[in-house]
Amino acid sequence: MVNQELLELLRCPACVKTSPGMLEQVREVWLVCTDCGRKYPIVEDIPVMLISEGDRWKSTPNADLPVPPPRPQ
Ligand SMILES: [Zn+2]
Repeated sequence: MVNQELLELLRCPACVKTSPGMLEQVREVWLVCTDCGRKYPIVEDIPVMLISEGDRWKSTPNADLPVPPPRPQ
């Protein structure tokens, strides 16, 4: 399990300079930005907060996000 206190501190790296960039945990292993909709995977309990990863999954519906997420490319 990922530390919940850590998750509460994380923000979307693409949004944080201009908006709150709050993240919502989806399907346990995904963090979805409530501002831009980028989706960040939690791979082996480590949130992958890379904008390139967020972009990669942005258009994937929450229901179609793979669990567990694949490793970042
Ligand atoms: Zn965002």
